[in-house]
Amino acid sequence: MNTLNTHNALRSWWAAANDHPDFPLHNLPLGVFSHAGSDPRPGVALADHILDLRGLEAEGLLQGLARDAVRACADGTLNGLFALGAAARQALRRQLLALLSEDATEQAQVLPWLLAADRCTVHLPARIGDYTDFYVGIEHARNVGKLFRPDNPLLPNYKYVPIGYHGRASTVRASGAPVRRPHGQTLPAGVSTPQFGPCARLDFELELGIWLGQGNAAGEAVPIASAGEHVAGFCLLNDWSARDLQAWEYQPLGPFLSKSFVTTVSPWVITPEALQPFRCAQPPRPEGDPQPLPYLWDERDQQAGALDITLEVLLLTPGMREQGVAPQRISLSNTRSMYWTVAQMVAHHSANGCQLQPGDLFGSGTLSGAEPGQLGSLLEMTQGGAQPLQLANGETRRFLEDGDEIILRARCHKAGVGSLGFGECRGRVTPA
Ligand code: MN
Repeated sequence: MNTLNTHNALRSWWAAANDHPDFPLHNLPLGVFSHAGSDPRPGVALADHILDLRGLEAEGLLQGLARDAVRACADGTLNGLFALGAAARQALRRQLLALLSEDATEQAQVLPWLLAADRCTVHLPARIGDYTDFYVGIEHARNVGKLFRPDNPLLPNYKYVPIGYHGRASTVRASGAPVRRPHGQTLPAGVSTPQFGPCARLDFELELGIWLGQGNAAGEAVPIASAGEHVAGFCLLNDWSARDLQAWEYQPLGPFLSKSFVTTVSPWVITPEALQPFRCAQPPRPEGDPQPLPYLWDERDQQAGALDITLEVLLLTPGMREQGVAPQRISLSNTRSMYWTVAQMVAHHSANGCQLQPGDLFGSGTLSGAEPGQLGSLLEMTQGGAQPLQLANGETRRFLEDGDEIILRARCHKAGVGSLGFGECRGRVTPA
């Protein structure tokens, strides 16, 4: 494992990768891209370039499991690589680090396969069989619960069950895809029969996305101690939400059309190996909270199964675009607000025998912090639309307007280790 984790010592002959804020040498996130009309193919982001893995493989620069990992992506998705599990992914990382490190002797052979990212198109990294959205951000659950039930914000199941619902896989899109304002059925205040029309309360949700690697056989639960082996990597996820549709439709079975019109993800898969130095202990449960049931409890997971990732939401309105001002940051949050770990989510999801498959996608649920500047949705920032958000250029927002763009970013930093980022998860609202 040591060669995988010597983050701070890693220097590349590709100078732009040294100290790059998002994609330095120790990140090596996996993705799928096309270049000059080529078929979609696997790649790795390195600074502002993309390394063509198929090219490296054709050049004979990858061996063994690393070569298998790239060949498994022949269909232009990472599903096959994900299915091979951690060993193949780690072998690929080890060989890429060797090829790209300062003292590598293969520079001349690697160089032609480094392509300028702005001349490539980046696609969804995997064919998503199923997408599940959890609700593990406890501050968000409490804030939203308070809007509906001021004296009883968290329902009694919350501290026993990692709550989730089955989302829609077919409308997950990579960053940059337009977000068309959905139509739907709503019940406006003070009216007794619903109407059909464009959503008037369009919102975003700041979430961590989790890509599933090796699956489990139907009927066989994944034990929590090995749940980590089933995670292929992480991304940012915007669970766009039509709050007016949601309020009318969500009882008793949960969100439906208010969520399924589009979900945006950042296209680069940040691997567990890259995130290893940014693991941390799960915050202890507050005094009085119940102990999780045994199938959700693992000491090692509690000690190092949480993640310390800074999350950021920026808003760019048409007004700001016209004035030439930069997007405004409207939230700064962190993944430490997750009440359940990723391993607990995997163990719970499969506890009934549900089959998870390579390329499945989880959303964490909205990740808000406990302070006002740390909220992960407009619903929370505006108290359900009651208090408009004041923007620096004089504009206000209760919910998103046509032309508004939401940009999610994520970054990890640790002294002595360095930094890495996830790249952007961006979407612009287009008219209904
Ligand atoms: Mn959500």
